[in-house]
Amino acid sequence: MAKKNPEEKSPKEKKPQYISIQFDAPRKYRWSTGKYMGRTYQEAKENKKLVANRCVKCKEVLWPPLEVCGRCKVEAGEDWVELPQTGTVMQYTYLVYPLWDPHYGEKFANPYPNAMILLDDGVYIRHFLEETDQKKLKVGMRVQAVWREDQERGEGTADVKYFRTIDA
Ligand SMILES: [Zn+2]
Repeated sequence: MAKKNPEEKSPKEKKPQYISIQFDAPRKYRWSTGKYMGRTYQEAKENKKLVANRCVKCKEVLWPPLEVCGRCKVEAGEDWVELPQTGTVMQYTYLVYPLWDPHYGEKFANPYPNAMILLDDGVYIRHFLEETDQKKLKVGMRVQAVWREDQERGEGTADVKYFRTIDA
């Protein structure tokens, strides 16, 4: 009779066992968006607009809206401007790992290119791209915001579903 190696595990022991736990965690709480982000949420939800405030001193557009201009150290105030909804992709990441979106509790689409977009007034915004064909993704491509349906909005900048490629 062959002696069993004490280090060797039987085939049954090598088989991994997985535990599956399913839970639903609805968000039953409310939180304040604050004075400035509240305006951004409201304009996105009600009017499909991206808005930002400007510093009263240096006139820099603050995105996302801020209470204090970091450069001038003064209260930014209520000088609101509407941001353009078109821009240019300056950088993108082609993500293929099926991560969970903590905002919606669902998996992100896979793949889901995420880009740094320079809006036409010089403000940068990070957002998703509709285009998922890696061969068609290019730095410099022109894009435009596509909004979620009326009943789906109320999540701030996530009210923009993604940015769609447009001709230059
Ligand atoms: Zn300033």
